[in-house]
Amino acid sequence: MTSDDPMSVFRLHADDVLEEMFYLEAVPQNADCRTCTFRRRVAGQPQPCTRPQELYRCDSCGVFLECRTCCLVRHQQTPLHAIKKWTERKGFFERVSLRDLGHIYQLGHGGAGCHAATEVVEVLVMHTNGIHRVNIQWCECDRSNGDTRWRQATRMGWYPGSWLRPKTFATFECLRLFRLLNVVARCNVRDFVTTLERMTDSLRITFVPDRYKIFGWMYRQFVYLKRMARSGLGHVKGGPRKAGWGAAAVRCWACPRPGVNLPDDWRDEPENTRFKYRLFLGLDANFRLENRLRLKSEKKVYEGLGEGLGCLAPSVHYFNHLASGITEEEAKACMAFAAITQKDTRLDHGLRATGVAGCSCTRHECVRPLGWADLLKGERYISMDYVFWASIVGEQLAEIFVTYDIGCQWRINLLGKRFADVPDEIRPADDAMPTINVALPTQARCGNDGW
Ligand SMILES: [Zn+2]
Ligand SMILES: [Zn+2]
Ligand SMILES: [Zn+2]
Ligand SMILES: [Zn+2]
Repeated sequence: MTSDDPMSVFRLHADDVLEEMFYLEAVPQNADCRTCTFRRRVAGQPQPCTRPQELYRCDSCGVFLECRTCCLVRHQQTPLHAIKKWTERKGFFERVSLRDLGHIYQLGHGGAGCHAATEVVEVLVMHTNGIHRVNIQWCECDRSNGDTRWRQATRMGWYPGSWLRPKTFATFECLRLFRLLNVVARCNVRDFVTTLERMTDSLRITFVPDRYKIFGWMYRQFVYLKRMARSGLGHVKGGPRKAGWGAAAVRCWACPRPGVNLPDDWRDEPENTRFKYRLFLGLDANFRLENRLRLKSEKKVYEGLGEGLGCLAPSVHYFNHLASGITEEEAKACMAFAAITQKDTRLDHGLRATGVAGCSCTRHECVRPLGWADLLKGERYISMDYVFWASIVGEQLAEIFVTYDIGCQWRINLLGKRFADVPDEIRPADDAMPTINVALPTQARCGNDGW
């Protein structure tokens, strides 16, 4: 171990650092409220604030101490700060809420007074530093910032859990933090809500209401709204409801798109360099992404928020197509892949979906718009065809190159018998029909027909 090893240096200072941590857990000798002292000095009263019997410290503001009045005055517009109280008698900092100190937060004016405020209501706010009970007053005057209660709350950065008389909120900051934890650290709603509960009361001495379900709902709504905002659909005439399929999906930035990243004369490209404007797609299924039926009565078709706007096929249209009575063609067994033989026999008992069919661009590995669909049995052509045709809706390209590990069989009737069954909404028009070449991925080998 070298002398500049951070752990060996730390060992030299560890005891002192521990003492410093204890220092923060206690009130120093002759402590008083410096805010009061400063205010008195400004007002020409030289004597300092006499040491009060109880002192408060706000973990969100800093490590300084102040008296009850100064703490309340300073937190008039910040009702979600975590406050600790020191009493001479107890000799330790205990967590208290601003509500315990008599704090009332006025909505509609950002905390400032309102001449037509409602009666005091107790609400619950989930924030990054815990779950807070807050006494609030709604505003009913003509100078309100927000005409409804949920608007008054959202304008203060609180996302409501319900819409008529909201009683539970999560701050946008809290939702944003969870979104990153969810995406980056794979944190789930239960773990996050438990963390907030522990931050509020780690020993679970007081009653912290369970807000797991409602936070899950708020988060799903928030993620949907973020997706709409990010994709620009909030500014489109008619809003997301009028948007076309796949409009909110993140498009591959490198795949060829006429009018976006191709020269105007791309159609005149000589044949030997035309591959530059070819779209390379890959098809496959994943049977690990199965989804269980939670309740016996639960429907197989579940309609989500922003149906058909992203990468998942619009469920009602897709499942209606599956139920349209199209019979699967008899496929010749492929020597290398069980996918073909299992396509109608795969067990689906107790499952809402047995897996996912997917289509992505193979050069950049981006999932195509509408490039995912639930599988109800095995890797059936009806699902794979739907995913393939849906993911190239609106494409104006001349050539598409598809790799699929059972492409040797799949391609046979793709443009023949099965093309007639493709729904009108996702079937390319005759004049926009690209040349489609099918191949096996490099690692796949098939013994049939010399593939
Ligand atoms: Zn004070
Ligand atoms: Zn504070
Ligand atoms: Zn008002
Ligand atoms: Zn791409």
